[in-house]
Amino acid sequence: MRKAAIAIITGTGTKTFFQGGTKFRIGTPYGPSAIITLGRICNKNVALLPRHGETHEIPPHKINYRANIWALHTLNVKRILATNAVGAINLQYKPGDFIIPSDFIDFTKYRSLTFYDDAPVTHVDVSNLYCPELREHLFKSAKQKINRIWNDAVYLCTEGPRYESPAEIRMYRSFGCDVVGMTGLPEAVLAHELNICYSTLCFVSNMAAGIKKRISTDEVAEEGQKLGNIIKETLFETITHIPRKRNCICSRALEGARV
Ligand SMILES: [Zn+2]
Repeated sequence: MRKAAIAIITGTGTKTFFQGGTKFRIGTPYGPSAIITLGRICNKNVALLPRHGETHEIPPHKINYRANIWALHTLNVKRILATNAVGAINLQYKPGDFIIPSDFIDFTKYRSLTFYDDAPVTHVDVSNLYCPELREHLFKSAKQKINRIWNDAVYLCTEGPRYESPAEIRMYRSFGCDVVGMTGLPEAVLAHELNICYSTLCFVSNMAAGIKKRISTDEVAEEGQKLGNIIKETLFETITHIPRKRNCICSRALEGARV
């Protein structure tokens, strides 16, 4: 039976993390998942899921986030380490910096955002959406390899696929957002709704709109490829050192959530 306690969800420029392994899609009540590869890292089964597909054919607003997270849930995944390319809103950041978000603002518009569309009505608490235990281990591993790593950032998610306007970025900055991306949500919330720990290692691929003259997808992909090895090493290091038993409260995310 296919099983993995840990999953890695990769994004732009960082999709090839291991050679070999078993590849498959999983059928879910929400449609088929993206292709998942099951491999071994440090004697642990790990499921790798490139959210844009293996050839980067799925744009951010068309990713089937529910199918992907449900598929990982059926593999018995309890922890997800993700990676996202982001634009920097915070002027202290610069391209090549790494960010571990601790909070978020969701500005997506048309995505299926929950597993709980029907009774019982369920309002999940997201006060600690990003697992504090996973974040701590990710930060510890990252600090060994990365000079510029920020551990306490607010991630803003837009619908995409266009980049943001300079006026939008000014507004997001006034809201206290540090970085902007198109794929972090509802992915993290859906994981939380299924009691799965979730943390993400973001890398700054570009300064956000209005800070520089224009944004190009080429520079986002280039930065991802440049940083791909560090991201891989950091995630593998985290997987090596994280204890098997969870010491966080993510497994109880639904306590008190149902009407
Ligand atoms: Zn947790």
